[in-house]
Amino acid sequence: MNSVSRLAWVTRSQSGPRLFLTFAALSLVPVLGLGVVLNQMVRREIDDRALAEAVSRAQTIADGSMVPALDGRNLAAGISADERARLVRATRSLHGDATVLRLRLRSNSGAIVFDADHPAAPLKPFTDAEVEEAASGKVVRALTRINADSIDGRSHQGVRAVETYVALHGPNNARVVGVLEIYLPYAPFRAAAAASKHRLSWLMGGGLLAIWSVLAFTSWSATRRVRRSARENDWLAHHDRLTGLPNRLAFNEEIERRWKGQPKLLIAVIDIVRFREVNETLGHANGDQFLCLMTEALQRADIGAAVLARLGGDLFAVLVDGDDRQVDQRLLSGIRQAIAAGFDVGGIHLHPELTIGVASTLDGVSSAAELLRAADLSVHAAKELGEPVVRYSPAFDHFDPARLELANELGPAIAAGELVLHYQPKIDLATGAVRSLEALVRWDHPRRGRLAPDEFIPIAESTSLIGPLTEWVLGEACRQIAIWAETGISLPVSVNISARSLADLSLPADLLGALALAGISPSLLEVEVTETAVVADIPRAQHLLAELHRAGVRVSLDDFGQGATSLLSLTDLPLDEIKIDRSFVTDMDHNAERRAVVSFVVSLAHRLGLTVVAEGVETADASALLTEMGCDQAQGFLYSRPLAAADLVVWLRDHAGSRDRVADHAV
Ligand code: C2E
Ligand code: MG
Ligand code: MG
Repeated sequence: MNSVSRLAWVTRSQSGPRLFLTFAALSLVPVLGLGVVLNQMVRREIDDRALAEAVSRAQTIADGSMVPALDGRNLAAGISADERARLVRATRSLHGDATVLRLRLRSNSGAIVFDADHPAAPLKPFTDAEVEEAASGKVVRALTRINADSIDGRSHQGVRAVETYVALHGPNNARVVGVLEIYLPYAPFRAAAAASKHRLSWLMGGGLLAIWSVLAFTSWSATRRVRRSARENDWLAHHDRLTGLPNRLAFNEEIERRWKGQPKLLIAVIDIVRFREVNETLGHANGDQFLCLMTEALQRADIGAAVLARLGGDLFAVLVDGDDRQVDQRLLSGIRQAIAAGFDVGGIHLHPELTIGVASTLDGVSSAAELLRAADLSVHAAKELGEPVVRYSPAFDHFDPARLELANELGPAIAAGELVLHYQPKIDLATGAVRSLEALVRWDHPRRGRLAPDEFIPIAESTSLIGPLTEWVLGEACRQIAIWAETGISLPVSVNISARSLADLSLPADLLGALALAGISPSLLEVEVTETAVVADIPRAQHLLAELHRAGVRVSLDDFGQGATSLLSLTDLPLDEIKIDRSFVTDMDHNAERRAVVSFVVSLAHRLGLTVVAEGVETADASALLTEMGCDQAQGFLYSRPLAAADLVVWLRDHAGSRDRVADHAV
């Protein structure tokens, strides 16, 4: 049942591995940095080694090939033809293995005495600091490119080369007779040096990987405890420790999440009646057990719950996807069934009683937070009223203790006979005759005086008190119809049926039962249902009204124009009458558009074969206008205010008398 919230929690607790991955990635940075530094060091080492090898080769050529080709004289004076010939042979053998790019013999001051590329060229005077340095005994070397030297004067630069100057010694190494300038290709020396360092690179890479793995493993095991306790903390932050259910925070988050995707939701907040007594008499341990048993029962219940949560104390909450009345019914009957058997707690068998506040997205809430607040307000109202189930009413928003007190008093007031019905006539505009009467309820409150229905009907509608109230009104109206019938007043009476009563499938049976009890014909009873009540659930209203209609009870659509009935559904409903809302009629005198609407509704109703009644007719002008438009009947202060039964009889007599006088005049 709580799989969704559990899922959300599991997703949240994924932060543990993420923590480790972050650490692993961060520890990789210094390891990689060290790798780069070591790699550079190795490269430098390879370069140095390559240069050293190149110099060593140059030295070998100088000592092994050049010196033996010379006579041992100082090269400043040039070389003999024999020496040149020997040098040509020696250099040719060197060129044979293609390892020498350039070879020159220089005098100690720098003059070019022999150039392997131009062996026949005469001595070319030149001074060169590098040569002088080499002549003084130092080995001079540089990594360069062939032809980069100013002596060459060629623009094209060739391959990388090691340029080396090595002193050439005379017999017995006695003195320096000249200098060998030699360019050897760099690549083979570097390749040889790199090959020797290859293993070292691999070893270093492996070593670094091992260091990093050790670091990562250490961090994994070190953070495991931290991660586990973070997960536990997260769980505790979102769950109730005793029952393991999601808590208010998690419940809130879940509603928020669902609100984004699916705007049809219903919440029931459940309070256990007199839980405190269980706690106090049986002890807290038993109180806890009671809550756990309650949790298990709700978890097992077939209530289609998406999430079951414990909001705190003895307050549970259920979130359901969908907001239609079937969801509502299934939820409430499921909860009732779940706890019907009761629980054994502390050796006592307890039958818990619940107070439930229901709110859904049908209640005009505009956010997830508002929805939960509406359900909270409803359960609060239910507790105040002592009602088992209370559906949200906007009246709860201005949480008014006086209003709730009134609601508390309404139930007993119905039983004590504090309600009275007043009757207002509906007049035939063409003849002036009274066609029927509308029964309007009032409450003669012992302290507050007479209360209008607007002051207590909304409260009754938001609680289950509307049932007994409607039942009383029906019974009282039928009783009055029967009394009047005996005295010769045979006028149909209409009663107002609220939206909640319209949702009650037992309404037709109750209504027919009241008619039968009073022994009157169904044709003497009419029902008025408001347009807004019908719109709330058109198919159900259709079904219920059709049943009444079949039984011979007339059906009237009240306050037409206030709701948003599609004109099409007008044709689908089994109606006999439409009452144009008072607001249209009152404004008609000075508002041409309103006049046009009234006129339109009159002709539309006539086309559909319905009677039209205008509500709230207060002036003779309005009455005349309506008569002109062909409106059938009118109701309003112009004719009579709603009157108590006895006063109405007097009024009816006066009205009949005045009609007769008018008729006499006419004759
Ligand atoms: P409604 O059914 O539209 O009743 C007409 C309301 O307009 C009545 O208010 C009546 O007193 C008032 N009224 C009649 N003629 C005029 C007029 O010319 N000018 C003005 N300004 N008002 C006029 P009331 O009696 O206060 O009832 C208010 C509403 O309470 C009713 O509207 C009906 O929806 C509801 N109601 C009354 N009795 C019952 C009842 O027994 N059961 C239910 N469920 N609702 C009832
Ligand atoms: Mg009415
Ligand atoms: Mg009305």
